[in-house]
Amino acid sequence: MPAVPDSYESLYLHFPFCESKCHYCDFYSLGREKTKEGDASFFEKAMIQEIHLRGKAGAFAPIMKTIFLGGGTPSMTEPASMERIFSALFQYTSIDEKTEWTMEANPSSIELAQFKRYRALGINRVSMGVQSLNAEHLIKLGRVHNPEAAFIALDALFQAGFTNVSTDLLCGVPGQSIEDLESHIAALTERPISHLSIYLLTLPPHHFMYKSLPSDEEQLKHLLFIDERMKAKGFEHYEISNFAKEGRRAEHNLVYWKGGSYLGFGPSAHSYHHGKKARFKNFSSLHAYGKSLIDQSTLPVEWTENLNSEQISLEKWMLALRLSEGFPKEWVKTDIQRNRVELFLKESLLEPHPTLKNHLRATARGFTLSDHLIKALAQ
Ligand code: SF4
Repeated sequence: MPAVPDSYESLYLHFPFCESKCHYCDFYSLGREKTKEGDASFFEKAMIQEIHLRGKAGAFAPIMKTIFLGGGTPSMTEPASMERIFSALFQYTSIDEKTEWTMEANPSSIELAQFKRYRALGINRVSMGVQSLNAEHLIKLGRVHNPEAAFIALDALFQAGFTNVSTDLLCGVPGQSIEDLESHIAALTERPISHLSIYLLTLPPHHFMYKSLPSDEEQLKHLLFIDERMKAKGFEHYEISNFAKEGRRAEHNLVYWKGGSYLGFGPSAHSYHHGKKARFKNFSSLHAYGKSLIDQSTLPVEWTENLNSEQISLEKWMLALRLSEGFPKEWVKTDIQRNRVELFLKESLLEPHPTLKNHLRATARGFTLSDHLIKALAQ
């Protein structure tokens, strides 16, 4: 059955609770010290209500292509609570064998029995936040796990029956060396992970670690090392910060990167409607989110934005330059763009795509300087 027009095939559900707040985190998440008894059930009730309001308005396609449970730390939500949330959702939609259903998890909240229940529910992919395997760096970042806990958690995921497991690392951590990155990559890829995300640590200028961040030159060296090492381990560098084994790209994230539609649930969740070129966002406060849904039976949307043509063009280039598919040469229309493309080809920041005829794409070095390329080409 074709998807109902105007309905969504990709969902993001934001779970706002965490063990404690990491020092670099800018997501909407509440550490245990910021939560009180009853918050988890208040959140569950609100999210179920949000699902019903959206469901009654026909927001769900009959079959979901991707579902992503992010946060926060969704793995802190009891499997029974997760089951209640999804039995509400499955009154309106369903999944099939092609649905990618991902849950983010942290090593400190991964237990075998619990993950067997998530697996039985239908979750078929886990993205685990390792961030570092250096005990000192983990403390510096404010993470609550140690390297041993990360390995125990990873092994529990495989034992629970997950065959599509991604891990996250951070690079650009103050004091991190190439040897650290080398040993982290070696240790993780020794296990049967199918995907690895390596994000560059970025901090605002007032942050206490800002002055200790590595120089641009050092970062570039590290990013190029990661590219080379991950390719040698058999992973495709398909997006600026993401590497996948064949057939294991993150389908949900590809919806974001290709400008597809997705519907967000939970406090602070964003949504995007491709046809309407509209973005909207929920309140970034558990209280305001729940109050709107439970007390007023109103969707908790804080703002909606219709993209103008300039924003659409910028997005188009941003998305194309972060993916290994790149962009078709027809996009290069003005003389300024043509001159810049020529220069970037000479500087090895762009290259002809090896298999897609008439496409250009960012090189590994171009990925690291993508902000510069985007600004120059989005005219
Ligand atoms: S675990 Fe993730 S979401 Fe939670 S505080 Fe740390 S970085 Fe933020």
